[in-house]
Amino acid sequence: MTAATTDSAVREFYGSFINGEEVGESAASTFETRNPANGQVLTVIQEGGQALVDQAVANSRAAFPAWRDLPGVEKGRILLAISRKILENKDLLVTLESLDNGKSQMDATFDVITAARYFEYYAGMADKLGGETIPLPGTHISYTRPEPFGVTAHIVPWNAAFQQAARGVAPALAAGNTAVVKPAEDTSISTLVMARLALEAGLPAGVFNVVTGLGSTTGAALVSHPQVSRITFTGSVPTGQAIMRAAAEHLNPLTLELGGKAPNIIFEDADLKAAIPGSLMAININAGQVCAAGSRLLVHRSLHDEVVEGLVALNRQVKLGPAASGSSMGAITTAAQYAKIQEYLEIGKAEGARAVIGGSAATDGELAQGQFIQPTIFTGVDNSMRIAQEEIFGPVLSVIPFDSEEDAVRIANDTKYGLTAGLWTRDLGRAHRVAAQIEAGQVTVNDFFAGGVQAPFGGYKNSGFGREKGTHALSEYLQTKTVSIKL
Ligand code: NAD
Repeated sequence: MTAATTDSAVREFYGSFINGEEVGESAASTFETRNPANGQVLTVIQEGGQALVDQAVANSRAAFPAWRDLPGVEKGRILLAISRKILENKDLLVTLESLDNGKSQMDATFDVITAARYFEYYAGMADKLGGETIPLPGTHISYTRPEPFGVTAHIVPWNAAFQQAARGVAPALAAGNTAVVKPAEDTSISTLVMARLALEAGLPAGVFNVVTGLGSTTGAALVSHPQVSRITFTGSVPTGQAIMRAAAEHLNPLTLELGGKAPNIIFEDADLKAAIPGSLMAININAGQVCAAGSRLLVHRSLHDEVVEGLVALNRQVKLGPAASGSSMGAITTAAQYAKIQEYLEIGKAEGARAVIGGSAATDGELAQGQFIQPTIFTGVDNSMRIAQEEIFGPVLSVIPFDSEEDAVRIANDTKYGLTAGLWTRDLGRAHRVAAQIEAGQVTVNDFFAGGVQAPFGGYKNSGFGREKGTHALSEYLQTKTVSIKL
């Protein structure tokens, strides 16, 4: 294929990756994707559809027994080699991900390094899977065997495509499953490169297949496939519900990582030198397109003005633009998301909130060609407003004052979501007390996003269920068999 559009790192066409090969060079059905930072067509992606899903699942099914039976130490060595391959190709992957997704250099680099960490972390676990012995009375012995499911299906969103694919695939493979990934239609490139790098690192063909395509066709075909044995989905609540219904058809277990509206609480005894930049990072990272983002900032009323002033001053330093321009905040990945954020900015104003900085799309000069949003801070927000209740998934922070610890906990929990939360305090008793009361799967004190790949991550309430990361994720990809023997 000849070099493409805006950057020679990107090819003109990408097909699915099945059994160690790219398939569908002459695909009848395709769609274009665009570079969100300049609006130009970036590449053409194959619409895999039912036929390629069938092919990928059958191939992954065929690859399963040999991969399952490979000694754990061998699996671990291959996963470690994948991690190293990713790091060796870091620059290429960062370039691809920033062109495809619109990310800043920093955000794309974070994703690539994190993906490498997932493979490294789970590499170390592949040879440590053991069961228990169960004391049965009399002349029996009983023990358990952790066993993989078979073919696992992974449906990935666009906001952190590369690291989220790795987040599911690495533990699934370490546990002895094979994997078929359907990346988000807007950001397929990096996952295809990951599968190729995995092959080069020694992963047998068919253990990690990728089928590209739209969610409503290719994604739906994958999660409904009778030979898929387990599903991992990250994305929106409505799609999660549709996938749960599809999983019910074959009684497949699943992990759902859905949306969030995380509270981030600054108590009156917080260290503001840390809390102000930390709270801004919690919303601005990846241009706010983060399910775990600290999008509701609850501030003790006595500190409200000082905190808002500090946040505004720091927000003025944000440099919007494409990665190549040395930006600190990139573009909004999809056209639909760009429109949705602008709609919420108008909803916020109509609800009576005040945009003390930002409040609209960024359209100065070259930015007008891309999908950029001015990082926005709303004050005068009440937690009942739509901008405080609904996930915006952009660089839009709602500041909500509170008067007491009890008040803060009540507001924090007054949401249908429960993915993450943050709190800033110097009072150790308060830190533990409030952390225990917050309804969220992950709470960070005096920082935000502190859990690395080792710490379990997942939702309470409408943010989903099941846990990714850490040893918990490995358990999600294993089922327990009990063997009992009469002596
Ligand atoms: P989305 O639900 O529209 O799409 C996610 C993925 O699902 C895409 O790959 C899409 O093609 C696929 N899909 C769509 N319909 C499908 C169907 N019927 N069957 C199978 N697959 C289907 O979500 P999005 O807009 O891409 O992502 C944004 C949402 O994801 C936000 O709500 C965000 O909070 C959430 N998210 C959650 C996490 C987390 O870890 N909890 C991480 C990132 C994003």
